[in-house]
Amino acid sequence: MIITELSNVDDIIQNQREFFQTGKTKDVTFRIEQLRNIKQAIIEHEQSIVEALQADLHKPEVETYLTEIGVIKEIDYAIKHLKTWTKPKKTAVSFDFFSYSARIYPEPLGVVLIIGPWNYPFQLIISPLVGAIAAGNCAIIKPSEIASHTSRIIAEIVAKYFDPAYIAVVEGGVEASQKLLAEKFDHIFFTGGTAVGKIIMAAAAKYLTPVTLELGGKSPCIVDTDINLEHTVRRITWGKFINAGQTCIAPDYLLVDKKIKKDLIDGLGKSLKEFYGDNPANSPDYARIISQKHFDRLVDFLKDGEVIIGGVAQASERYIAPTVIDNVSLEDSIMQEEIFGPILPIIEYTDIAEAIALINSRPKPLALYLFSQNKNLQKRVLQETSSGGVCINDTVMQVGVSSLPFGGVGDSGIGNYHGKASFDTFSHNKSVLQNSFWLDLKWRYAPYEGKLPLIKKLLG
Ligand code: NAD
Repeated sequence: MIITELSNVDDIIQNQREFFQTGKTKDVTFRIEQLRNIKQAIIEHEQSIVEALQADLHKPEVETYLTEIGVIKEIDYAIKHLKTWTKPKKTAVSFDFFSYSARIYPEPLGVVLIIGPWNYPFQLIISPLVGAIAAGNCAIIKPSEIASHTSRIIAEIVAKYFDPAYIAVVEGGVEASQKLLAEKFDHIFFTGGTAVGKIIMAAAAKYLTPVTLELGGKSPCIVDTDINLEHTVRRITWGKFINAGQTCIAPDYLLVDKKIKKDLIDGLGKSLKEFYGDNPANSPDYARIISQKHFDRLVDFLKDGEVIIGGVAQASERYIAPTVIDNVSLEDSIMQEEIFGPILPIIEYTDIAEAIALINSRPKPLALYLFSQNKNLQKRVLQETSSGGVCINDTVMQVGVSSLPFGGVGDSGIGNYHGKASFDTFSHNKSVLQNSFWLDLKWRYAPYEGKLPLIKKLLG
C-alpha cells in the first residue's frame, strides 16, 4: 500500500505509536533484520533507482551508484556495529559513589519524521532512515516532490518491504509537509534549505520536538600555492560539477592565492575538457538542473562578473554548462546566495588573512575546503574558521566516511549523522544509576548536626 492520502496521516502516526509500544522495534535482532531488508530492497531495485534519478536529474549511472545507491555502505556499517552501539555503557563514578554503578542506556525516541530534499533524493532519505531503524524507531518519510520519480520509487520500495505501522512514506509537497508538521513526533530530521529549516524548527517548537537540521549555504574552497595543481583542479572540478553542482557540500566559490590564479583557471579548463569533452551538453556524464525555477535562478547568476569558462544555458534541456566566473563583487547575488548549480566564482586574495576574514564575515558554512600542503596554513585555517566540516586537499569525500559525523553549524544546520552519529541522533541516552544494599552510610541524612566538616571534605 502506498500512502499518498494526506487524510490518512493521523492514522499512520497512531498505528506507528501503537506498534512502537509493542516494544518490537527495541529488539536488536529485529533492527538488524530491517536493515538487511532495506539493503535487499535497494539491491533488487537498483535499476529502477538508476532510472528514477536519470528521469529527475539526468544523473549519470556512475554518480547514482557513487552517491545514492552507495548508501548501502552506511547500512553495512550500522549492521556491523549495532550490537556494540546498543549495549549499555558503564561509566566511571567518583570515590564518594563507591557503592554505586552508573550506566548509559541508549533507547529509541519513538515515531520520527524524515523530510528530504531533491538533490540526492534517494540517499538523503535512506541514510537518516538507517539511523532511525538502527536506533529502534518507527519512521514516517516525506521525500521531495520535486524529484518526483525518486519519491515514487522510495514509496514503492518502502510499501513493498515494510509494514506502514513501522515505516511509511507520505508523498507530496509543502502541503504534505505542513500536514505532517502539525502532528507531534519524537524527532524531526530535515534536510533542505535554511529558510525552510526555520519553518521546521518553529513547527517542532510547538511540541518541544528535537530537530536535526541538515541545511546548506556557501561552502568556500581556499587554494594556496603549495599544491599539486593537476590533482587540485581535478578534485575541485569533480566536487563542483558532480550532479551539475547541485550538491550541498559542493565548493560554492574559490578563494585563490593571486599568484596561482592563472594556472588554476587554465587547469580547471583542462580538467573540464578531460571530464566532459569539448561540449559538456553531449556528455553522458553531466547532469541537468532539476527544474525550470532553479534553471532560471541559476541563469540570473550568469549576469554577475565575467564568464571565463562555459556560460552556455539551454532552457529546453535545463542544461547549464560548467561555468567559471571571474571578477565578481561580494555584493553580487552570486556571492550572497547559495549557488547550488554548476557555476563557480573565483575570488583572489594576496594574504590568507583576507580569505579567513571573508569566511568569518559570513554565516558558518557546511563545508570548508583547503588545498595546501603547508602545515602551518592548515593549522591556521582550522583554528581561525568554523564550519560543519573541513576537507583538506580534496572535496566532497568527507561525506563518505562513516566514522565522521556529518552536519552543519550555525546557519548550516543543527546536529549531525552518519555511522554512530546517526544512531545517537535517533537515540536518547538514558542515564541509570544503581546503588547496592550492602552499606548505608548516614552522612547525607538528617539530623545534620556535626556532619558539615565531613561534607566540606567530600566536596573539596
Ligand atoms: P527545500 O528546503 O526547499 O525542501 C526540502 C523539503 O522541505 C522538501 O521535502 C519540501 O517538500 C519541504 N518543504 C519545502 N517548503 C516547505 C515549507 N514551507 N514547509 C514545510 N516543508 C517544506 O530544499 P531543496 O530545494 O529540496 O534542497 C536544496 C537545499 O537543501 C539547499 O539549500 C541545500 O544546500 C540543502 N541540502 C542540504 C544537505 C545537507 O546534508 N546539509 C543536503 C542536501 C541539500
